[in-house]
Amino acid sequence: MAHILVVEDEEKLARFVELELVHEGYEVTKCGDGREALGLATDNTYDLILLDIMLPGLNGLEVLRRLNNSEEGKTPVILLTARDAVMDKVSGLDAGAVDYITKPFAIEELLARIRVALKLHPSGQSINGASAGNASGNKAAGTGEGILCWKGLVLDEKRHRVTYDDTEVALTNREFEMLKVFLTNQDIVMTRDTLLEKVCGYDYVGETNIVDVYVRFIRSKIDEVFDVKMIETVRGVGYVIKSE
Ligand code: CA
Repeated sequence: MAHILVVEDEEKLARFVELELVHEGYEVTKCGDGREALGLATDNTYDLILLDIMLPGLNGLEVLRRLNNSEEGKTPVILLTARDAVMDKVSGLDAGAVDYITKPFAIEELLARIRVALKLHPSGQSINGASAGNASGNKAAGTGEGILCWKGLVLDEKRHRVTYDDTEVALTNREFEMLKVFLTNQDIVMTRDTLLEKVCGYDYVGETNIVDVYVRFIRSKIDEVFDVKMIETVRGVGYVIKSE
């Protein structure tokens, strides 16, 4: 049975989650300090880490970043975040978390997300981009193998590289995946739900304003820098990249 590391400094909540997880048949290790959690995750193998962001010692995002720089980065991490902490969620996903859940949460929701995370990321499977494999539904509207184009923009899937008029554009994994979805589906209006599903995984149940944040990031790195209007907003629906 899966072994879960629960990192949460609110003792009551940690105890509650532990009891529920044990009840579901999981093996649980509990820890209330960021630095200690990093040590535990480095010295032991867990199938999943439930990681609070606000922690004494080292905050959850920092723990996540350090984990992702090491061998243990392969363990899926679900973040526990405070309500309205959208930037924490985005930073967390960029740092390699597979999911997040906002406190306070219903235990059923947490259990469901844990099941999904364990299914999508069985031990030893890489996290970054693992759930984005189903992102390219239609055949590329651009040209060449694994090469997607729009005006001066070229996205090279194999090299995981984006350029505009031969100038390199540095995108995070999720920004790259989202841009790929747009370029693959040119002239098709993508709803926030669809984008969220394609970029964050099929079973992902998140807040769709994450999508707006990513679109803003991409625009700040491409539209604003190269003075183009690439991703257009379709009011009340979503976003689209038009081929003409
Ligand atoms: Ca906390």
